[in-house]
Amino acid sequence: MKSIEPASDSCEAGNLYRLLPSVNDLLLTPSFADLLKTHSHSTTTEAARTVLVRIRKEISEGQYTHSILADKVKHLDHSVAEELKVSRCFSLRRVINATGVILHTNLGRAPLSASALEHIAETARGYCNLEFDLESGVRSRRDTHAEELILRLLGIDAGSINGRDATTPAAALVVNNCAAATFLALNSLAEGAEVIVSRGELVEIGGGFRIPEILAKSGARMREVGTTNRTRISDYENAIRPETALILRVHQSNFSMEGFTERPALDELVALGRRANIPVFEDQGTGLSISLDELGVGAQPTLPESFRFGADLVAASGDKLLGGPQCGLLAGRIDLIERIRKNPLLRTSRVDKLTYAALEATLMEYLSGMEESIPVVRMLRASPDEILRRCEWVAGQLNNIDLVADVVPAHSLIGGGAAPSARLASSAVALRHALLPPQAFLHLLRQLDPVVIGRVNNDKVSLDLRTVEPEFDATLVSLLQQGAQSDLVSSKRIPSHE
Ligand SMILES: *Cc1c(COP(=O)(O)O)cnc(C)c1O
Repeated sequence: MKSIEPASDSCEAGNLYRLLPSVNDLLLTPSFADLLKTHSHSTTTEAARTVLVRIRKEISEGQYTHSILADKVKHLDHSVAEELKVSRCFSLRRVINATGVILHTNLGRAPLSASALEHIAETARGYCNLEFDLESGVRSRRDTHAEELILRLLGIDAGSINGRDATTPAAALVVNNCAAATFLALNSLAEGAEVIVSRGELVEIGGGFRIPEILAKSGARMREVGTTNRTRISDYENAIRPETALILRVHQSNFSMEGFTERPALDELVALGRRANIPVFEDQGTGLSISLDELGVGAQPTLPESFRFGADLVAASGDKLLGGPQCGLLAGRIDLIERIRKNPLLRTSRVDKLTYAALEATLMEYLSGMEESIPVVRMLRASPDEILRRCEWVAGQLNNIDLVADVVPAHSLIGGGAAPSARLASSAVALRHALLPPQAFLHLLRQLDPVVIGRVNNDKVSLDLRTVEPEFDATLVSLLQQGAQSDLVSSKRIPSHE
């Protein structure tokens, strides 16, 4: 394998390439004997090739003098051993989230409860009755596993919707996420017809999920009413026509509006829908199922409330404030759910047994009054005092001469597009490294295992412990000690372009 040298290479660079051995020669050197005892010939060859390709690129970028490269070549066995180690690392890594953002979409949103994890492991280890009715021994629907629990969480007993004629039966189903739930509801109930929606709710949720675009893709026609800041019930009423199939209500999620604003309460929309015989569909989004009133973050609509107010159909995420696995819940009038069930597109967003296992266990925690076992609920309710004490403990354990730790007040965020203006009083460990600027120290923390993610605040690295599981406090201390004095520090002292 001879490298093809770029024509622009200087004579010097050309000479440098000649210092590199071939892969075959390299593997024959005595220092590779040990590596070949613990790794197969093909993986070692592959790693050696990767290392040599990387060095060639670095030569072409002018990164080596003759003597530095000669030294590097002498220790190629170390580079290949390191490469073998890296190539065995999973891409998905464990992270300690010290950002203070409880639902961090980039960090995987909701951590699952212990019982959800146990139920996943139990279900995944062998076979299960995913679509099999144990009573009759025949095929059944996978949705049965979560349906009754969802309806009970929503306060719907014996399968009928509360607050209306007790004979209206309800049903629920589970899809891949709330975006899919919303799309499927619109496509199943309003394709080729009109959907009335307020201009104040034509939002983008994040990750490119925009209500007007989803509506267009669903085949429904959007009938916008009102203005960005004010929509009245009469605006909806005046827009109703024979082509109207649905009234859509969207939780405003990731932005808040203040000042001269108005929109009808959900129960007003419901009353209008009943009079005109048009179903009201609420994209509730957060899945919040407990009251956050005691946290002083302002009134947050909950999923059971949407139901109490009489929405005919609601959609919510499983992995936002519900604190479960990624999925989308749809619940409401059985005739509407049946139309969604008949949609051939439903199959494209069905969820697997692991999701049902985690969802079922999470819902069970709520229904048995054990919701404190759900990490998201615990983090929401963690008291500022408790977090302060933990921060003081962590800061007190750090006796590293290169690391100065203080405890400072902080504000945690709910995140995930829920309650954007809500700030939860918290505390953070503020760290200053003697040798590293904050961005470089933050980068170093991302090289640890588990990875530590913090933020930079007032020129210090800030670690908000609200979003760190308390059982990780001791791990965090040893990671910080380790990180502060590791080889990584010396590599970072070279001015970086970060
Ligand atoms: C978050 C959110 C969605 C998207 O939910 P995913 O589960 O991320 O697909 C849709 N609608 C609202 C109102 C949301 O808040």
